Amino acid sequence: AAKRQGRNRLHFFSSQLSDNVRENLVMESALRNAIERKELVLHYQPQLDLNSGDLVGVEALVRWQRPEIGLVPPGLFIPLAEEIGLINDIGLWVLEEACRQTIDWDRQGYHVPRMAVNLAVQQIESGHLPQQVLQILQYTGLPAQRLELEVTESAIMIEPKKAADALLEFQSMGIRLAIDDFGTGYSSLAYLKRLPLDRLKIDRSFVMDIGTNAGDDIISRAIINLSNSLGMDTVAEGIENTDQLEFLRREGCEIGQGYLFSKPLPADAVMAFMDKNPSDWS
Ligand code: C2E
Ligand code: MG
Ligand code: MG
Ligand code: MG
Repeated sequence: AAKRQGRNRLHFFSSQLSDNVRENLVMESALRNAIERKELVLHYQPQLDLNSGDLVGVEALVRWQRPEIGLVPPGLFIPLAEEIGLINDIGLWVLEEACRQTIDWDRQGYHVPRMAVNLAVQQIESGHLPQQVLQILQYTGLPAQRLELEVTESAIMIEPKKAADALLEFQSMGIRLAIDDFGTGYSSLAYLKRLPLDRLKIDRSFVMDIGTNAGDDIISRAIINLSNSLGMDTVAEGIENTDQLEFLRREGCEIGQGYLFSKPLPADAVMAFMDKNPSDWS
């Protein structure tokens, strides 16, 4: 009986496996067509000055509006896109759409000072990115100073030399640079110090723990101090309550984003958000 059960279980696992394989293949071919079928959309999360409450920018976050299925979050398709070599195309689409949208808001009287866009490792490694970004800026008319590129520590450390070259080139173009998810990856502080980074983003996992116990406050505080000592502005991700906000403000973190202020929003809703939160953005 045990033997039979074992065989059944094996059968169960292998048919489940092939279901997953089939599903992945379907998803892969659907994703390959997503750009030309115009199924990708960007949502934008407001970033606020924690002291004045002013909107200082937004972060563009990609979603896949998949027919019959609905809005797919990036965590469920970006890794696949990286694996099957689609991330460069998706990344370029995101960059162009984000820049285009910023100018579109301008035209409607809504000045979003800065647009932050996430980069994948492969985009940095390709070597073509600075030239491509330059073309997108020229084509859309967005001033370089209003674009911010976010790279993770891990992305930088995989090919430190290539990453440094790209970052220096972006800097010379006037583009701002942020290090994303800080504290979750491996990086050399001595190395980071030499990179032209404007902002350091504290990962949500640290912000989430603020106020829960003393040890976790210490990490956020240390990261803010580090960032400030390196001359960067500090951005906190994932602020969900006023305790976290008060702590971050007190410790000298200048900028934040999170559900306390707003979830990532479709482009129209960003304008509604700006109407509801009047401040110095005209
Ligand atoms: P990320 O760049 O660290 O973006 C922040 C994520 O935290 C977003 O998730 C955002 O919705 C979420 N978040 C912000 N505030 C809160 C909060 O208060 N509470 C909670 N629970 N979550 C919050 P999202 O949009 O699902 O994106 C996940 C990740 O996918 C991003 O992390 C980024 O690494 C990646 N990603 C998104 N868009 C792109 C893109 O265009 N290109 C690339 N290469 N990666 C992207
Ligand atoms: Mg990011
Ligand atoms: Mg992040
Ligand atoms: Mg994060």
